[in-house]
Amino acid sequence: MTSHDTSMTKYTTSQGEFFAGAEPYLLTPGPLTTALSTKAAMLRDWGSWDDDFKAVTAEIRARLIAMCGGEADYDCVPMQGSGTFSVEAALASFIPKDGKALILMNGAYGQRSAKILDYIGRDYVILDKGDYLPPMPEEVDALLNEHKDVTHVVIVHCETSSGILNPLKQISDVVMQHGRKLIVDSMSAFGAIPLQVSDIPFEAMVSSANKCIEGVPGFGFIIAKKEALEAAKGNSHSLSLDVHDQWASMNKTGQWRFTPPTHAVVAFLEALRLHEIEGGVAGRLARYTKNRDVLVDGMRAIGFETLLENEWLSPIITTFFSPNDPKFDFSRFYNEIKSRGFVIYPGKLTEADSFRVGCIGLLDHTVMAGVVKAVKESCEVMGVKNYGPPDGVK
Ligand SMILES: *Cc1c(COP(=O)(O)O)cnc(C)c1O
Repeated sequence: MTSHDTSMTKYTTSQGEFFAGAEPYLLTPGPLTTALSTKAAMLRDWGSWDDDFKAVTAEIRARLIAMCGGEADYDCVPMQGSGTFSVEAALASFIPKDGKALILMNGAYGQRSAKILDYIGRDYVILDKGDYLPPMPEEVDALLNEHKDVTHVVIVHCETSSGILNPLKQISDVVMQHGRKLIVDSMSAFGAIPLQVSDIPFEAMVSSANKCIEGVPGFGFIIAKKEALEAAKGNSHSLSLDVHDQWASMNKTGQWRFTPPTHAVVAFLEALRLHEIEGGVAGRLARYTKNRDVLVDGMRAIGFETLLENEWLSPIITTFFSPNDPKFDFSRFYNEIKSRGFVIYPGKLTEADSFRVGCIGLLDHTVMAGVVKAVKESCEVMGVKNYGPPDGVK
């Protein structure tokens, strides 16, 4: 498992056997390692106006709505582009021009939402918790008392820049008590962390094809209350990112307004089928949790420290401090690990050197054990002795 050879190696996973070895595993939170059948689904060309392709789009929308229990009041709008395109589309479409947002920020993706609001000219206030602390319900309560004009609260479900799993349910409860609307960036969590509208009655939720559903990149999707989709008419500054227009037109014609990423869409339907076979959200959460546990236990046994306390560790991605050893060199570390068959992710912290290892994608705990072994070997090759975090951290 740990050696990167050019021959094709057969792996047995919960989803059957597949072949790898000619390409490294992606321990990155999207694009990520996908199933062979997901890739194979792309070996056909589709007419975007054809009934067969319209049926694919309709089935994807229905499956996504069912995943959060939204059949009665919600609809799903796929949107071309990477996940950020869908976040921007949602913020511009659901927050009216005279609305005001409270952005709960604890990393790069919360910061990005604020930047989007700067671009599109929506008013907002922020709660910024830095790199590794969650926004707390009491803080949100106090801010909503203070800012009566806030119409929408924007939260990142799993802040992928640190891996923190934010307390969405508690915060949703506070937002509902105040009668405000909730917009969730669940990009890196949806499909693996339970999210039911009966529990968390969000106004809109955004995710994308290439994260926990394990599709390939090319589009995102928005699940929103039908009444919010109706009310979104005329809000967007952008034609191509207008969620209302995409929704109304898709419901009328069954087609995407503009050229859809057809291959990514059919691959996504295959990924959704595999998701169901694995046991849906619960099955995926179980596999990712085991991946995370094998990774974190193995890394701590070597001497690495995680950025986050156990309570906030997500089963999506984990941040480790870079070893406080002059022999440690991240770019060499990255290449040593890659030569052993795994691609990891640089850190995204403002304060301390770190790196991240994703637990999502078609990987199981045997792959994670291979990652730990590759990390250990790579550090030994570099002569690293001290694995503790940089001075002054924690
Ligand atoms: C991946 C991700 C996004 C979107 O990133 P893209 O690079 O545009 O796909 C947004 N928010 C979160 C929390 C993410 O993990």
